Amino acid sequence: MGESVTSRRGRVLAVSVTEAGRRITARLPYVAIHGDLAATVRARWSEVDGFVLCCATGIAVRVVAPLLGDKGTDPAVVSVDDAGAFTVSLCGGHAGGANHLAREVAGLLGSTPVVTTATDVAGVPPLDALPGFVATGDVAAVARAWLDGRPPLVERTLDWPVPFAGGEGPTRVLVTDRAVDAAAGLVALRPPSLVVGVGASSDAAPDAAAALLDAAMGRAGLSGDAIGTVATIDRRAGDAAVTALGRPVRAFPAEVLAAVEVPNPSTIVAAEVGTASVAEAAALLAAGPGAELVVAKQKGATATVAVARRARPEGSVAVVGLGPGHPRHRTAAATAAIRAADVVIGYDRYVDQCADLLGSATTVVRSPIGAEIDRCAEALARGAAGDRVALVCSGDPGVFAMATLVCELAPGHGAPPVEVVPGVTAASAAAALLGAPLAHDHALVSLSDHLTPWEAIERRLRAVTEADLAVALYNPRSSRRTWQLETARSILLEARPATTPVGIVTEATRAGEQTVLTTLGDLDPSTVGMLSVVVVGSSTTTVVDGRIVTPRGYLT
Ligand code: SAH
Repeated sequence: MGESVTSRRGRVLAVSVTEAGRRITARLPYVAIHGDLAATVRARWSEVDGFVLCCATGIAVRVVAPLLGDKGTDPAVVSVDDAGAFTVSLCGGHAGGANHLAREVAGLLGSTPVVTTATDVAGVPPLDALPGFVATGDVAAVARAWLDGRPPLVERTLDWPVPFAGGEGPTRVLVTDRAVDAAAGLVALRPPSLVVGVGASSDAAPDAAAALLDAAMGRAGLSGDAIGTVATIDRRAGDAAVTALGRPVRAFPAEVLAAVEVPNPSTIVAAEVGTASVAEAAALLAAGPGAELVVAKQKGATATVAVARRARPEGSVAVVGLGPGHPRHRTAAATAAIRAADVVIGYDRYVDQCADLLGSATTVVRSPIGAEIDRCAEALARGAAGDRVALVCSGDPGVFAMATLVCELAPGHGAPPVEVVPGVTAASAAAALLGAPLAHDHALVSLSDHLTPWEAIERRLRAVTEADLAVALYNPRSSRRTWQLETARSILLEARPATTPVGIVTEATRAGEQTVLTTLGDLDPSTVGMLSVVVVGSSTTTVVDGRIVTPRGYLT
């Protein structure tokens, strides 16, 4: 729901016809095909999520025109000129994810994205692509009127925040989890307000819960588009009757369910599984404080279902690692977490690093460096209040970054669900540029004595030499911390020869990237800055054809 097609199926083909085009596709993280563009697109049209076609827009239009069907199922099509200057979102802008794909490709190539979808251009929210919502009905009429300066009237059967203000109509957006008759100029906008609780016996058929649920939702006048979560007892979480409902599953142990007060407890169930209710208790629990049971327990031969309505959105905090710099080293999970976020919080530089992923409905909170506690506290408070928050960090969020603070502070903020999304850390990026200096046992040590006493850092450096580990030194030097690297070098030199290979990588994968190969004896601290990482070899590290290598022992 609300995800782009590219992230749903995740297959993008980059097709080139010229040598210049081939060089462009080689810079993209997609399956690259060189050769007959028209035949390739025809053959793969229904299998993939998106195409990046390296050719003139006119050629791309002629090739895809006969294949176009429904914008809900067609793949995204993006064309890129042979010089890689412009990436054009050709069709499938919203539903197909082509606008996202065009911006992603532009980020990777450093080209200009060309997005002509009227709502994107005018800053009108894309109703059919609002993260977390499902829009049905006369989206085209509402969007047209909105673009003409007449925002829809927002009506609601549900008190649920939406990321736009609305206006006077005459078109309408109805925020609801109910089934609604279609009408001209009306869009039903459904948030994930409903939680389905499922109980099942071990022999329940895959469709046992689905059939019960459909009938019950129909009688209650509720829409399946509003189902955000399925909840059950832990031992049933992987059962087909539960997973067949096609939504994320929350599972609880019997003793946790047993503590929930429900209208229809069963002594038989209590005797069998240790809780008097599974479906009702799981639904109410997963739906959070203030939830209301809107469908009481429905009992079939092998399954039970119940439906609860959340009182407010479930917020969350994702601590997202953006990687070292360039978008090609950002993971797909990081991209998805940022796109799904209502709020993106981070230090200026990191917010800029993911600017290509921010939508018109994303709230951006730029926080100054040094305000780490405030930054994490704000992320957690917003998460607890119902926002989906992405707190962005460079590299990996668990390496000298914000993941620890978020985990430490979360309980004091009502403990919203916290997810840590890993990233490529500076040491990995630097090592890759240098060769393979960290290929055997190694350590990461930060030389920042801002939060750690220098004596502790010295002790760790001596332990590194004692253990003969290669080491990546983070935060090696800044305008204020000028002597630490020199001291660290002397400590390492006590036990390692002056010829030990050293690599200094500054701004890895960013504009201004610089790699210096030197030795412990020749290391000149003035060539190192706060955006450098310094990699020092162990006793076995050598330089092979300009690359630093710490052998794993295959050749000895
Ligand atoms: N979480 C980050 C580290 C943040 S601490 C990660 O996993 O990479 C900040 C330090 O990381 C900087 O002082 C520098 O030593 C290093 N660093 C971060 N990005 C870098 C890059 N692109 N190139 C070189 N060093 C980098």
